[in-house]
Amino acid sequence: MIQQINLLLLPEEASQDHVIRQQMIARLGIKADRLNGFRIERQSIDARGRSVKIQLQITAYIDEPMPDQEAFDPQLQQVGNKPSVVIVGAGPAGLFAALRLISLGYKPIVLERGKDVRSRRRDLAAMNKTGIVNPESNYCFGEGGAGTYSDGKLYTRSTKRGDVKRILQLFVHFGAEENILVEAHPHIGTNKLPQIITAMREAIIDCGGEVLFERTVTDILIQNNAVKGIVCADDTTIDCSRLILATGHSARDIFELLERKHILIEAKPFALGVRIEHPQALIDSIQYSCPMRGDYLPPASYSLVSQEKGRGVFSFCMCPGGIIAPAATAPGELVVNGWSPSKRNNPFANSGTVVAVDQRDFRQYGFSGNLAGMYLQQMIERSCFAAGGGNLVAPAQRMVDFVQGKASSTLPDCSYIPGISSVPMRDILPKAISDALRSGVQTFGKKMKGYYTNEALLIATESRTSSPVRIPRHKETLEHPQIKGLYPCAEGAGYAGGIVSAAIDGERCAEMAVR
Ligand SMILES: Cc1cc2nc3c(=O)[nH]c(=O)nc-3n(C[C@H](O)[C@H](O)[C@H](O)COP(=O)(O)OP(=O)(O)OC[C@H]3O[C@@H](n4cnc5c(N)ncnc54)[C@H](O)[C@@H]3O)c2cc1C
Repeated sequence: MIQQINLLLLPEEASQDHVIRQQMIARLGIKADRLNGFRIERQSIDARGRSVKIQLQITAYIDEPMPDQEAFDPQLQQVGNKPSVVIVGAGPAGLFAALRLISLGYKPIVLERGKDVRSRRRDLAAMNKTGIVNPESNYCFGEGGAGTYSDGKLYTRSTKRGDVKRILQLFVHFGAEENILVEAHPHIGTNKLPQIITAMREAIIDCGGEVLFERTVTDILIQNNAVKGIVCADDTTIDCSRLILATGHSARDIFELLERKHILIEAKPFALGVRIEHPQALIDSIQYSCPMRGDYLPPASYSLVSQEKGRGVFSFCMCPGGIIAPAATAPGELVVNGWSPSKRNNPFANSGTVVAVDQRDFRQYGFSGNLAGMYLQQMIERSCFAAGGGNLVAPAQRMVDFVQGKASSTLPDCSYIPGISSVPMRDILPKAISDALRSGVQTFGKKMKGYYTNEALLIATESRTSSPVRIPRHKETLEHPQIKGLYPCAEGAGYAGGIVSAAIDGERCAEMAVR
């Protein structure tokens, strides 16, 4: 007999198989020798009660053998001599598109402007040290895209559970730990992602696909409204009739290229604000309602949302035990984002805290047309860079000082390596954003007692939350309505937000490109 049961255990109990087994036997009311095995299907934290519990969904095998777990087959095959599809961008969308093409019997040719993960790591270290951004190799550009040096959170609001499971299984196939398949909020961590991305690239190449680094695509060749090829910065040309454009939300040159070529694009609302950093121990004590987290619970996270002055304010991409990183893609701009190692064992908790931005704001600053949002984003990033004093030193202000309109006379320790400088946020953020943020953090403080504190630091600016441009596509075929063979893909085109949804969209574009 196979039976599903739910257990609610203390964190220490849930970490020990023999305790789980004992609890199951007691719950099922059976003799110990009848329980042949069990499998945890889902694991989540329940912090609602007085003491934090772990919720387990388990399949029990009673009086019958536990079957081996069905092996996942990524269906990779040799495609070296097969028809090809060109993919621009080796982020999650581009890599998962390439793997899907291989499984469908097509040869992917992936062109990536940045470097392989190992060379890229050196450029990131240099940027953190010198404060100088390499426009081709940074936290957004390079192998694995913006997802490589991230927290590697793998949860998504996508309701396509089947697709999500397949993406997670592929991550496990390429080296991620199996617990990502059962955890409600799985994450991989910056230290582990590069090996996984490398394994994906090696598999693509072993199957006969191509992954070419330091190949910035600068033009798309079009004839009779159909894709004919692409041109790279080194003047090489590649003929193709099917092109998956997976260049991410920071490829401003691609948006400008499309605009110049009169290829249909449109301005899109996005969100903009700051990264907020608290001591992790404070977040743990709030979320777990106890002074110390202990050894059996992960560093706590939060997710907050409110409506303030007619605008959505929300926390975004929370990195427990994380580090705030400089994520600009061009010199003279300041953008922050966050990452965490797999153990999330840094003393800080950071999350983007952002406000919805739309046409009203574009217009207010005199920007119009399809690139209006992108230019507003760039304007604010530049003013943050200047306000910090250069070299990626970031403007920062304590939370209560921000709300009370006071400059911070001191700043607490912060994880952001290039350094911070005391600058009032209202001097650099548009007034509407600053006002909504001011109300938002106070509301969050009411929802999460202890959140609103002068121990917390606001660091500007978190501006690359999603693409400021949408590249339209046909709902079913995913093809651009005007250009045959062009498949605008994932985050850069406005159809994904985050690693998993980008990967899912990459797979879908691959399927449509060869349908
Ligand atoms: C620091 C950081 C932390 C993050 N943390 C998380 C997280 O924990 N969980 C999560 O779900 N999401 C996270 N994100 C967001 C996530 O990384 C993105 O949503 C995701 O990577 C988008 O995938 P994509 O493939 O659409 O685009 P990208 O990952 O942006 O990839 C686009 C690729 O295209 C390349 N490219 C651009 N232009 C050209 C060109 N002209 N020619 C050739 N190549 C080009 C770029 O170099 C890049 O590699 C994080 C992002 C950052 C920056």
